[in-house]
This record gives sequence, structure tokens and C-alpha cells, in this order.
Amino acid sequence: MQDQILSVLVPVFVDQTYSYRLPADLAGESGLAPGSLVKVPLGPRSVIGVVWDNDAEFKDAARLKNIEHVYEGCRIGEDLRRFVDWVASYTLAQRGMVLRMVLRGEEALLPEKPRRAIRLIGEPPSRLTEARSRVLDCLQDGLAAPKAEIAERAEVSTAVIDGLIKAGTLGWTEIVPASPWVKPVPDFAPPVLSDSQADAAGQIREAFLEGGFVGILLDGVTGSGKTEVYFEALAEAIRRGRQVVIMVPEIALTNAFLDRFEKRFGARPAEWHSDLSPRQKDKVWRGVACNDIQVVVGARSALMLPYHALGLIVVDEEHDGAFKQEDRVIYNARDMAVVRGHLSGFPVILASATPSVETRNNANIGRYRHIKLTSRYGGHAMPDIGLIDMRNDSPPKDRWLSPVLVDAVNETLEAGEQSLLFLNRRGYAPLTLCRKCGHRFQCPSCSTWLVEHRYRKQMMCHQCGYTAPVPPSCPSCGTQDSLVACGPGVERVAEEAASLWPGRTIVILSSDHIHGVQQLRAELDSIASGKADIVIGTQLVAKGHNFPAMTLVGVVDADLGLAHGDLRAGEKVFQMLAQVTGRAGRMTGKGRGLLQTYASEHPVIQCLSKADWEGFYRYELEQRERAKMPPFGRLAALIVSGEDRGAALSYGRDMLGSIPSMSGINVLGPAEAPLAVLRGRYRFRLLVIADRSVSVSSFLRRWLQACSKPTGSVRVQVDVDPVSFV
Ligand code: ADP
Ligand code: ZN
Repeated sequence: MQDQILSVLVPVFVDQTYSYRLPADLAGESGLAPGSLVKVPLGPRSVIGVVWDNDAEFKDAARLKNIEHVYEGCRIGEDLRRFVDWVASYTLAQRGMVLRMVLRGEEALLPEKPRRAIRLIGEPPSRLTEARSRVLDCLQDGLAAPKAEIAERAEVSTAVIDGLIKAGTLGWTEIVPASPWVKPVPDFAPPVLSDSQADAAGQIREAFLEGGFVGILLDGVTGSGKTEVYFEALAEAIRRGRQVVIMVPEIALTNAFLDRFEKRFGARPAEWHSDLSPRQKDKVWRGVACNDIQVVVGARSALMLPYHALGLIVVDEEHDGAFKQEDRVIYNARDMAVVRGHLSGFPVILASATPSVETRNNANIGRYRHIKLTSRYGGHAMPDIGLIDMRNDSPPKDRWLSPVLVDAVNETLEAGEQSLLFLNRRGYAPLTLCRKCGHRFQCPSCSTWLVEHRYRKQMMCHQCGYTAPVPPSCPSCGTQDSLVACGPGVERVAEEAASLWPGRTIVILSSDHIHGVQQLRAELDSIASGKADIVIGTQLVAKGHNFPAMTLVGVVDADLGLAHGDLRAGEKVFQMLAQVTGRAGRMTGKGRGLLQTYASEHPVIQCLSKADWEGFYRYELEQRERAKMPPFGRLAALIVSGEDRGAALSYGRDMLGSIPSMSGINVLGPAEAPLAVLRGRYRFRLLVIADRSVSVSSFLRRWLQACSKPTGSVRVQVDVDPVSFV
């Protein structure tokens, strides 16, 4: 028989597959099917790759290298392979780089190693101490267990066990650890749904029964019980033996959520997020691939796990910017989740109290089913939103909380309830300057001001992470004690709160004060249990949490972000403020939100204050339609960057000469990016605006192929459907 020639995709910076020969001793009886995981030589090293398509044609087979190893057990399914192709084609990433998001190292592929264990093999020794008999009691059932475990159970030192081995009573053996994954039970503890929840759940179930892909927008106000409703969809998928992934903005994956899942389904879901150790990740990966794990809850990368039988995706808080990955493969996991459902033919549920304008439009035009929950569970009212016009109610000098807001906090404290002061700005002050000479602290490698962090005692660049100690004197003129902080960050608001409310428990919730998911979860639990009078937080607190005692949310600077003037500025401010004020009164129904603003007439602020959410979407969609912006047009951004400003700019300008002629496309730029320098690289932006009917990806592919290759340090980054415009 002739050797089989296979095309293998490897997880490196390439788009094409490579051909390898399968030596007869690895071929088995019927050769190797696509999707098999193999180890192949690549240059001087070996990498794990995936047999991508059917057998490759290759004339000069003698020159091919051999596949070195075939991993048994796991495979990358046809649907996932087509998905990788699709993502690469849409985002213009190399297929190898997309595959890299799917694969893990060899540890994930090798079966669990058997562990050495002890069991009973002979007669009890003549001298039977009490410790020894406790050990024998533990092993009476004839089962084997690891030495350390027996020692712990019998409360003896391992020397006692060694003695029994020597005496020939106990002996070594090997055991394969049992699967640690418990399957969720669909009907473990279903809740009694309210009428509107039951109606929503019914509509979702119908979609399941019809089969195939359907996009569902689950659009419900904060506290309406969206989670309970999509749990019903989960139950349906589990009954059908399908796998489910719930994607959440990482930070929303709280203990409260996991507990709630366990109460409903009798088992914990598998978690997938950046705080897992590599070993834990390997286990989840393998569990997913082998269908041992039925439900995964995780951050955006959970979408790329090698599911064996995926049958439902839920994207919770679908509007959240955290679903967009901004480096390497630049993709939006929310949108790619929909694509995944499309390719494989199953439902995708997008849940949010503040859907993205794109998703809302898809629901409006019937592309998605629109399921609404318009009131909070238990009949609790939505919070009253009030505006504080800072032009009339201004705080004292160098203070940030207006008298109206201070009074409101006082009332809340007197009632024994919690307040949240929200400011989406980390650190103490966004700008530090010298009173004497006007020197400003700038990042040495970015065009940004350094932010003072008093808690860390550092000046810090929020773009590249550069840090420096806070100097005692001005580095420019040498004057002592001349540095002044301009503007507030959460730490400064916390300082103000501490002076206004001495003796009260004040908690800052910001990524600088929290290290890792576990600590964040502990903080959130502690706040939820009432152990804080005043919480001062950044967007970390805005997402999906339940704080039963919280009745007041004061937004320190509601205008922050409105002035950005980019496509999504209004949308982002609306979503963030609607979400954060939604923390108020979730369990009691007497919450209020107060927005400090200098722009009370702005349409976004107006819609928020009147709780006119429909009005917001109408306004925003009108604006977008007039400007032919998404969802009425398509956008892609190209970021040309380089260590040499002139070289980057001239490459960007040269690119304009190679634009393929295609109707319905307009290219703007190159213009200096708002973040003009990042990590020592000068940045220019080109913006592609296209009609909806145009395939922006094919246009970009043709354009980039027509351009000369960039030289020196110049790079071009492609961002299809940009979310960020810096
Ligand atoms: P959302 O995700 O829409 O903000 P949640 O699903 O978190 O809302 O529900 C808000 C609160 O109401 C939660 O504490 C939840 O346990 C409770 N809740 C919602 N629906 C029900 C129900 N049918 N039975 C019991 N409690 C419910
Ligand atoms: Zn920097």
C-alpha cells in the first residue's frame, strides 16, 4: 500500500497547510481521518498539528517528512475546522494563528497518567499497632488509594504505611483517576417561572424544537431573570445530550453565578478563564474534547474549545466590549459565536439588558428573534434616575461629589443601606503636573499621561503598563512638593469619601486593588453580604452583580466617554450607566441612580434619565443610518505602525495607491491615531467604510495583496468591525 499523504495545519503564523507522509506503522487499518491530532516536524522542532482536509495530492512524495506521532482519543471535528477557516477568512488572520487559539500543548492530549497507589495484598502482620489497624480498616474495601490519601484518612504518618508494605501486607499498584466531571441534571431543581419568564422560555424551547440555527436576543431589564430563562434553554440542550457554552465577560463569572448554576442543575459547570492554571486548562480542554464536560462557563476564548457535540451557545452581557479580542487574532467572540451556530446549525442566545446597537437592529429587522422581559422579577421597580447638573450643584474646590449626591449618600447610610460611587477611572488622578514649571508626566513610550496610583505609590501608563515611582520633586525644574494631581480617579474619590464619612466601611473595587479572579469573587461576595457601607468602583462593579443591600448608585462623571466622539461613544456610555444604575434596588425595588453631568441636555443622558431605552436605540440607529455606519454599513480599520514615524506614515500613504477598484467602498486616512504612540510605535489609522452588500474581508485581502510588503519595523494590523477607535 502507498503511504498516505496528509495536509496538516500547524498552529504557527501561516495560512496554508503542509503535506506530510503517514508512515505505515502509524497508519492503522484505515489510515488517518481529518481532524486527527498529530505531531509533525516543523523546521528544527516538532509541533502539534491537525489533519485538516482529505488526503493531499503531492507529486514529489519522497521529499516529504513523516508524521512523528498520532494522538489517540481526541479529534478536532469537521465543524470546528470549518469554523477556524471561517474566522481566519473573515478577520484576515492566518489559519494557523486561529488554530493556535484552539490547541493546547501535549499535556492536554495525553491520557491521564495512572497514579501509584496502595492496596491490600497479604495477611495482617503479627504486630498490629493501633495506627496499623486504622490503615487496614481504610483498605478493607479492597480498593486502592494513593499513599498520601490513606495516610490522611487513617491519620497516620506515611512511615506506618511503609512498614506495612515491608511486612508484605500492602503493595503497590496503579490506578487511573476517575473523571472529575459531574454531569448537570436538567430537571434537578427548576424554578417556578413568572408568567413572562415562562413565556420567554417557551419561545426559546420552540426554537430548539424547530432545530437548526436561530439567533435569539434575550432582552430583559436588569434583574428580570434572564439567567433563569436561559437556564431553561440549557436544560433542553442537556436533555438532548448536547454541550453548551455560556460566554460571559470574564469578570461576571462570579461565585454567585456558579452557586446558582449548581442549585439549578445539581453540579458545577466547568470554568474557563485566565486564572486557571495550565494544568486545570488542560483538564477542561480534554474534558470538552472527550464529551466528559457538558457545560462550560467562560471568557471569550471558551468559544474556541474543541467541543465534541456543541448544541447551544449563550453569550451573556452580549454588549460587553470584553468579547472583542484586540491582539493577535482580532475577532469579536460574540459575532463569531453566531457564526459558529450558523455553521453547525444550533441556537445562539444573546442576553443583555442593554443590547449592542447591532444586535438590537438584527432583532428589529427579524434576523434574530426578539424575546423581551420588561420588568424585574418579583415586581421590583426599576431605579429612579436623577440628574445632577454640575453647573448648578458644583462640589467645593478639589472635591468631586456634589452636595446633592453627598446628601443622598447620607440618607442611604441612615437607612442602613449600601451606596455605590461609580467612576470608570483607575488610580488617583489622570494627570499630574508641576505647579511651578508646568511639567506633565508622560509615558516615555506612549502618547499618554501617566496616571498617579497612590495605592501602588506609582505613576503608571494605562496603555503599556509602564510604571515609575512618584518622585519627591519635579524631574524638570527640581522644585520640592510642587506636583499637583488634576482630576479624579477612584482612589481620589475614596479619599474624599473617607473624609466625609469617617468610621464607615469604604471599599474600592478597581483592578489595581484586586489580584485575580478569586480575590475579586471574594470581594464581591463580601459586598453582597452587606460588609461595606460605600463601594467606590470602576467598570468592575457594573457587570451583572447582585448586591441586595445596594439602593443608591451615584455616577461621579456621567459625561466621561461621551466626548470621545467615535462611533460607539454614545452607546458605550449608555450601556455602562444603564448597567451600573441597574445595580440599585435589585432586591428591594427602591433604588435610585444619580448622574453628575455637565451635559444634561445630551440625548444619551436624557434617555437615561427618562428611562427611555427605546428612545436611545431609535436615536442611535437614526444617527448610524444617516452616517451609513454599522449596522447600516460596514467598517474595517487598518492600523499602520512603526518605530519610525515617517516610514509608517509614508507606507500608509503608499497603500492608498493600491486600492482595488470596487464600488461601495470608501477609504479614509491615513490619519494619526488618537493614541498616536504606543510602546514606542507611531500609529496611523486607515478606515474602510463599505456598503452592507460589500464583503469587506475580500476587499481587504485584495488590497493587501496589491500592496508592497512593509519593510523595517512597519506593520499593518487589520481590525474588521472595530469596537475600539484609539
Ligand atoms: P438578570 O440576569 O436579568 O439581571 P437574574 O437572572 O440575575 O436577572 O435574576 C435577578 C434575581 O431574581 C436573582 O436573584 C434571581 O435569583 C431572582 N429570580 C429571577 N427569576 C426567578 C424565579 N423564577 N424564581 C426565583 N427567583 C428568581
Ligand atoms: Zn505607555
